[in-house]
Amino acid sequence: MSDKKKYFAGIDIGGTNIKFGIFDEKGKILYREHKPTMSEKGPQALLHLIANIGERLLYHAAEEDFEIRYLGVGSPGAVNTKNGTVVGPCPNIEGWTGTEIGKALFERLNVPVFVDNDVNSMALAEYKFGAAQGKKNVVCLTVGTGIGGAFLYNGEIMHGSNYTGGELGHMTINFEGPLCACGNKGCLEAYCSSKHIIRRVKEKLKDKMTPVFKDVLKSNIDNLSIKKLFAALKRGDDVAIEVIAETASYLGIGLAGIVNLLNPEIVVIGGGITDGSLKFVEMVSDELNKHAFSSATEKLQVVKASLGNDAGFIGAGLLGEN
Ligand SMILES: [Zn+2]
Repeated sequence: MSDKKKYFAGIDIGGTNIKFGIFDEKGKILYREHKPTMSEKGPQALLHLIANIGERLLYHAAEEDFEIRYLGVGSPGAVNTKNGTVVGPCPNIEGWTGTEIGKALFERLNVPVFVDNDVNSMALAEYKFGAAQGKKNVVCLTVGTGIGGAFLYNGEIMHGSNYTGGELGHMTINFEGPLCACGNKGCLEAYCSSKHIIRRVKEKLKDKMTPVFKDVLKSNIDNLSIKKLFAALKRGDDVAIEVIAETASYLGIGLAGIVNLLNPEIVVIGGGITDGSLKFVEMVSDELNKHAFSSATEKLQVVKASLGNDAGFIGAGLLGEN
């Protein structure tokens, strides 16, 4: 007999891993897995892999007698949610723009398929089951390989006129700043993505390596990674502290404009940096408060995302509900 409970299945396509799973209407995860994205094999191979994952989810659901009404997919890049096609640039997966995810999966799996941007999906998950529960106007920001953003207005994803709403990472904070992957100069992402955080640390260590970094990197600057930066931070290295503080400051300045524009109830910040630096969210909040209108920040909460790596596939699984 089929269970009356609702079950959801979602797939989150990341630059490195595809995370996927099944959960129930309370957000309890019943099945979760991940596979390497292997985007270097090209968009057709990736699409094939996603279809296989979809099949696996449906098979698992059938086996466990979970009734699943549709499949949700979160993808990098702007996504036309009407037909599930990637319409925006997507620097982390070469050739992905133009991929008809929705059509391909529907033809192969014969279930309804909902596709949206990955950060929009994450925001939906945090709104329904995570840090933004009970709030209706939510700004979400993720700090990682890129800087992703999303905005929920009255609990609904704001897509904008061409599905590009919420691209906070490509807001210019210095028009003469460093070149961004999008081709523009001085985007928030050109300062705060992991690649650019590392670039800034390297610049500071160029002339003189600090004793802590010397030890952490075994005197070789090429060993520098975000993890190594966090290791140096933990040991109180001045350069690490400075770079993290600057990163928080750039994000706070960028977010101040967003908060003035949208006046959300809550800003949710996700990504590895919030684990690597425990005070990071607090520092972003302090800077934001310095730059935004006092009435825009009076009731504003700035918090860390709470669903971690599961947020993407959970949000994708909820796309048919929004
Ligand atoms: Zn950019």
